[in-house]
Amino acid sequence: MLGLEAGIPYFPALISAVFVALFWLERSRPLRPETASKARRNLRNLAVAALSAATVSLVERPAVAPVARLAQERGWGLLGLADLPPWLATALAFILLDYTLYLWHILTHKTALLWRFHQVHHADIDMDASTALRFHVGELMFSVPWRAAQVLLIGVSPQALALWQQALLISILFHHANVELPPALERRLNWLIVTPRMHGIHHSMLRHERDSNWSSGLTLWDWLHGTLRRGEQPAIGIEDERDEGRLGFFRLLVLPLRPNRS
Ligand SMILES: [Zn+2]
Repeated sequence: MLGLEAGIPYFPALISAVFVALFWLERSRPLRPETASKARRNLRNLAVAALSAATVSLVERPAVAPVARLAQERGWGLLGLADLPPWLATALAFILLDYTLYLWHILTHKTALLWRFHQVHHADIDMDASTALRFHVGELMFSVPWRAAQVLLIGVSPQALALWQQALLISILFHHANVELPPALERRLNWLIVTPRMHGIHHSMLRHERDSNWSSGLTLWDWLHGTLRRGEQPAIGIEDERDEGRLGFFRLLVLPLRPNRS
């Protein structure tokens, strides 16, 4: 892949295996009934994902990786203030990146401009692991300065950044998956991490349900901020974009340009 750095661990085989395993579980243990063809939705979401992956390779990684290298060399950022063992610096980087991603997620909903782009992710009328990859190119472009600021202010090393981004990808594949886990197992997991039932509520058509469960990794942030919501699985999507036939690939690309209604 373009832009990968030597000496930094990448796990494409593990990430692909997680996607395939979730796809198989979605066929055998679906959490929510499907309202549209899974094959068509997944192909469309993967097409959006291909554009996003190209953006990450061509824009985000070349812009953010040098910031991480600089922060490491100069000892910049919060984690540069103390001489921490690498494992502890990586663990703290994971926690602080996860919290600042929680804040970014709220911004993508509460800022009219960012919501225009983030709604492409929420307009999926069913939710599964492929939805986790469906982010508009524009949203990813807007997130580049935020990501650079996270890395600089926290003081994230290139190794910790690459590991966190891959862990985040596995986390979002998991909690977008349309998989029914045994309730007792999911309850236990949900004490620590975001699970499919929890994130399903964030994809509700109802605004007050959508304005909850913003975390992408640890459940802690929603719990601390009082934005954690549990309950039945809602209808998925956004109110005024329910016509699956109209939500084709090109329509999704121009969706941010339509008049803002929600
Ligand atoms: Zn969201």
